[in-house]
Amino acid sequence: MGNELGQKNRRCVICEEEKQNGYYLCSFFICLDCERGMVHTEVEHPAYKRFIKQLKKAMSSQKYIHN
Ligand SMILES: [Zn+2]
Repeated sequence: MGNELGQKNRRCVICEEEKQNGYYLCSFFICLDCERGMVHTEVEHPAYKRFIKQLKKAMSSQKYIHN
């Protein structure tokens, strides 16, 4: 139940590449490579800030898709 991975476009919101392996955080797809990086990332690390930035970008583009 609730597994929509098959039909959705699996494009990572962080690296912006289409990946086979990953998961959805809220409705944003994050590939395993970036997920793995995040776990080891300190909050103040540039990579984390980049993640937040990409997430916001993904949110605004999703708003566009919904329109
Ligand atoms: Zn990624």
